[in-house]
Amino acid sequence: LAYYFKQIEDNKHLNAFNEVFFYSAEVQAKSVQQKIENGTAGKLAGMVIGIKDNICYKDHIVTASSKMLDGFVSPYSSTVVERLLQEDAVIIGRLNCDEFAMGGSNETSYFGAVKNAANPELVPGGSSGGSAVAVQADMCLSALGTDTGGSVRQPAAFCGLIGLKPTYGRISRYGVIAYASSFDQVGPITSSVEDAALLLQVLAGADEYDSTVSSKNVPDYSVTLHSTSPKRIAVLKETIENEALDPEIKSAILNSIEDLKSKGHTVEYVSFNLLDYLVPAYYILTTAEASSNLSRYDGVHYGHRNTEAKSLTELYKHSRSEGFGDEVKRRILLGTFVLSAGYYDAYYQKAQQVRRLIREKIEGLFQDYDLILSPVAPTTPFKIGDNMQDPLVMYMADIFTVLPSLSGNPAIALPLGNNSVGLPLSIQFIARHFEEEQLLAFSQEFL
Ligand code: GLN
Repeated sequence: LAYYFKQIEDNKHLNAFNEVFFYSAEVQAKSVQQKIENGTAGKLAGMVIGIKDNICYKDHIVTASSKMLDGFVSPYSSTVVERLLQEDAVIIGRLNCDEFAMGGSNETSYFGAVKNAANPELVPGGSSGGSAVAVQADMCLSALGTDTGGSVRQPAAFCGLIGLKPTYGRISRYGVIAYASSFDQVGPITSSVEDAALLLQVLAGADEYDSTVSSKNVPDYSVTLHSTSPKRIAVLKETIENEALDPEIKSAILNSIEDLKSKGHTVEYVSFNLLDYLVPAYYILTTAEASSNLSRYDGVHYGHRNTEAKSLTELYKHSRSEGFGDEVKRRILLGTFVLSAGYYDAYYQKAQQVRRLIREKIEGLFQDYDLILSPVAPTTPFKIGDNMQDPLVMYMADIFTVLPSLSGNPAIALPLGNNSVGLPLSIQFIARHFEEEQLLAFSQEFL
């Protein structure tokens, strides 16, 4: 623990931590030490882990990196935190992220941007940017993020790590601050597939507090990690041939494809004609859900409250105006608009229909293939400040990650080494619903 505390101190300039849990981590580490000596320690004994600052931990502050929740102390723990502690992990602190997990660069945080350890002028990706950088700079062994449309996979990709978004419904969302509830999933960011498997095993499975979690049996992901068979892999042609795709990412992926073929896998290009609809459908649906989820921050129940308001309406207005940042406000407005009576059919309902088409298309592909291959992000990490002027540029960067979010499938970002200037490259694999076992075993072999 002392080692990680020192690493955190030495890397303060990266702004990955919103808070270090010096006291509770110390207490937990001592009790785990005891259990190790008694031979009663759990599966994660001694794993030092950071959690994204939108995951509740009893008696600890949780802010979602928003002024709206600055100083808010959670009265209960999320199911994921309960399970980490039960298996004797040590939670070292809460990690910076985009405000309410809305963003792809960790620049919308009320507590400032997080910097990529590979080059501090560049973004670490987002929204779980702090989670990725904490692992990248060895400030903890692994971290939890949340992934609504790429927020675990894309920062993992930007920091040269492994990021897993499990199947929607694999892990409980109880105690995780909601962004878009029909998309949100917790996922691990790690530097080895073994750690991802171990964490998924501990976190996954039914929870009486979240009825959307599947009661499907949780396999022992670590045991099956080494047995894999030749796979039939579909490459989404429009993603690899996309003109926005960075040429070095493209050539690294093409090399991987050759490699996979030489190892006996079948790799085929398939057409995916819905690519242009992914980002619009994703942003209509997630902003709609967000506008509803964020209505609870009214200046009365939680966090920030304006002190000068003279009426209840004024209190709502001023508290929300002061508490939320620009990106969050933009999304509340967009979401409220697409849900409004006159536009519901044209936008929200249409987007729901598109989501169903996307899901069917993916299910169709999985009749013939075991895995789907695509890039994670169109670019390598960009300069802090560069994409903040134009929200649409930022939204379009999510084009490859939102696909499995819309369809609910599990997906993993895997590192592919560095480009010519030392920045991480990456690749994404998507599997059938609840086939994390195969996805992880394949990933282990791939790396
Ligand atoms: N960048 C995407 C967005 O802004 C994804 C965020 C996320 O997965 N939390 O919505």
